[in-house]
Amino acid sequence: MLIAGGGIAGLAAALALARQGRSSVVLEQAASFREIGAGVQLGPNALRRLTALGLRDQVEAVVSWPQQVLMRDALSGKVLNRLPLDADFRQRYREGYATIHRADLLSLLLQACRERPLQIDLRNNLRVETISEAGDRVRVTDQHGRPHEGEALIGADGLWSRVRAHVIDDQAPRFSGDVALRALIANDMQAREVTLWMGPHLHVVAYPVRRGAFLNLVAISQYPSGGGLRGWETPAPQQTLERFQGQHSELSALLQQVPGWTAWPLLDRDPVRHWSRGRVGLIGDAAHPSLQYLAQGACLALEDAVALAQLLADPLGAGTPQAAFTRLAEQRHARAARMVRTTRRLARVYHASGPLRWGRNLTLGLMPTRLTREMMAWIYDH
Ligand SMILES: Cc1cc2nc3c(=O)[nH]c(=O)nc-3n(C[C@H](O)[C@H](O)[C@H](O)COP(=O)(O)OP(=O)(O)OC[C@H]3O[C@@H](n4cnc5c(N)ncnc54)[C@H](O)[C@@H]3O)c2cc1C
Repeated sequence: MLIAGGGIAGLAAALALARQGRSSVVLEQAASFREIGAGVQLGPNALRRLTALGLRDQVEAVVSWPQQVLMRDALSGKVLNRLPLDADFRQRYREGYATIHRADLLSLLLQACRERPLQIDLRNNLRVETISEAGDRVRVTDQHGRPHEGEALIGADGLWSRVRAHVIDDQAPRFSGDVALRALIANDMQAREVTLWMGPHLHVVAYPVRRGAFLNLVAISQYPSGGGLRGWETPAPQQTLERFQGQHSELSALLQQVPGWTAWPLLDRDPVRHWSRGRVGLIGDAAHPSLQYLAQGACLALEDAVALAQLLADPLGAGTPQAAFTRLAEQRHARAARMVRTTRRLARVYHASGPLRWGRNLTLGLMPTRLTREMMAWIYDH
């Protein structure tokens, strides 16, 4: 099996396939397998997939376990709602809620892949460029024109997927109008919660990573020309930073601790029902990129990887790559589409101003914990 892309989806797929006895070749365009210096929230659904991949102990060693999710108004500082990530939460979702540094997540997947050298062949500096099918083989060529062949190709090559262009005739990703600024700072205040600050036309998420040593910050606001930005290494435009001035003193003090931000435009795609063509199929952001307002892109990528490996191993029919790819989208497209649509709507809620902000705050303030917890059931129960 060929896998284009060695990010979270690609490495998780390689590992899931290896655990079912299938070998794969992972083709990654970057010179090394690496992730940016930022955090990822892992819902119960993702933690269950990591456990299924045999990584529970490795995960335990590096994650933080926040105690609660706080929703706060960014102007007044008021706590609007609180979701304890406590024993009740664990009991309800049969798992906890963790946060992790991206590099730690990638390196535990990578390490597990490296421990299976006979089944997983990891290759760097190879960008998949052309894709063709002949009989029961898929052939790709890399940027040097060299061929690579396999029984099928999994496109795990992210938002700007080259493989997707072979599978689906659709538009480029859609720029949401929002840009995410990211930073990692020392967790001097010993914060032990995920805090979502919601302000007019912006929101900020803060949570601990590396067992509480650092605080991961994501600050999101509108930036009309953000579609032109590419890659996390882009320093944040001054214009965007200015939008965060004038917030509650606690939030302002937090943001002032950041020595430098990097920026990333937020894009998604309209959902599609079919994620494959013949022996070429998509997973992760290549299949269903969504805005990150529910912190679920990587979680869904892990779900895809485990589900695809199970379908490929299914002795009752879906065992061929074509059938497995088709079944994967049948099983999962509605969930992925809901994620895309819900996150688009959430942007309006998080960034509300005027009467809408007032209504949002009132509603969140009246919401009992049980309801807040149950609202997440469609995501975390999976
Ligand atoms: C601000 C922000 C915060 C987020 N927070 C969270 C969170 O808290 N929780 C969560 O679950 N998700 C979160 N996400 C979403 C998550 O980061 C993505 O959904 C996830 O990284 C997707 O993984 P992937 O492997 O599908 O794609 P990617 O991570 O994009 O990996 C794709 C890989 O393919 C490689 N590649 C690309 N093209 C080619 C090619 N032609 N040939 C070979 N290799 C190629 C790339 O180099 C890369 O290594 C967040 C996203 C953003 C933007």
